[in-house]
Amino acid sequence: MTPVDLRSDTVTQPTAAMREAMMAAPLGDDVFGDDPSVNALQERLAALLGFEAGLFVPTGTQSNLCAVLAHCQRGDEYITGQLHHCYRWEGGGAAVFGSVQPQPLAHQADGTLALADIEAAIKPDDPHFARSRLLALENTLGGQLMPQAWLESATALARERGLARHLDGARLFNAAVEQARRLGTDPYAQARRIASCFDSVSVCLSKGLGTPVGSVLCGSRELIARARRIRKMAGGGMRQAGVLAAAGSYALEHHVARLAEDHARARRLAEGLAGLDGVQVQAPDTNIVFIDLVGEARHKAAHLLPWLAERGVLATGLYRLRFVTHLDVDDEGIARATGLLREFFQRG
Ligand SMILES: *Cc1c(COP(=O)(O)O)cnc(C)c1O
Repeated sequence: MTPVDLRSDTVTQPTAAMREAMMAAPLGDDVFGDDPSVNALQERLAALLGFEAGLFVPTGTQSNLCAVLAHCQRGDEYITGQLHHCYRWEGGGAAVFGSVQPQPLAHQADGTLALADIEAAIKPDDPHFARSRLLALENTLGGQLMPQAWLESATALARERGLARHLDGARLFNAAVEQARRLGTDPYAQARRIASCFDSVSVCLSKGLGTPVGSVLCGSRELIARARRIRKMAGGGMRQAGVLAAAGSYALEHHVARLAEDHARARRLAEGLAGLDGVQVQAPDTNIVFIDLVGEARHKAAHLLPWLAERGVLATGLYRLRFVTHLDVDDEGIARATGLLREFFQRG
């Protein structure tokens, strides 16, 4: 029995067609700028999002690091959210490697940052303070779609105050696909619309898009030239990386629209858990379902994941559990996960 692996959308295996695209990729040495498949991916995503240039990097963490260090100097700061990956989940890299201080803000209930909080965090030019240089946002945030109107106002505020704007769009296409569904428009157009608020955008290829490795940072030619230097310092200058980049180009063509299926399956999982005692489920915007255990159900929390794993369903968390849908989870997998979760909580 193949497990239904809902731990993350990073666990996907490349499809047969993606592997073929990788095998067929023309290769060169990307540190010399010679790899046609890397260049094609960078140009394709940059054009798609409305930027001059792109940079293929091994991970989303390195992409955010290159972005923050390309925007900021030593002694600058970036304003961001407490829950944002580039503050919370990247080992403090911008501070460690770049001497760039984060200024994290508390989130509102809908995941946004209050404009008044952003405004108040922008420091005056005074030697007491670090220089506020960058606003770094994230979409989706924990699977939540950030409102377009808020992205526009927050980034407009930053621009008026002379700050650069970076988007951690690890799951940009999940956001774009859901925004497109709500508006009845095209996902690529929505991706471009979200990106248009920012000076740089980082996109993960190895999450919902289903490639084995890689992210792309997009921005102006000048910014990307600085980021390329930082990528080299960080050890991210790869050679025949086209074998990986080809998977990214394949995914941008074939794996964007289908994210809607992952979102539908996440909704089905959440709906299937409605009404269980001690289980609170949020309706997911995209491909991540959180369930919170409350009251008596918390006593059983420690048994849940091992019990599920024995029965071929993998997830993460304890009192707050996370289930992520992706390319390698089908309807049968969702039915299995839903059935087992119902059984576990109904057993008493
Ligand atoms: C996964 C993720 C990253 C980092 O990606 P890695 O490739 O694991 O380093 C950055 N930001 C967000 C929002 C992510 O979900």
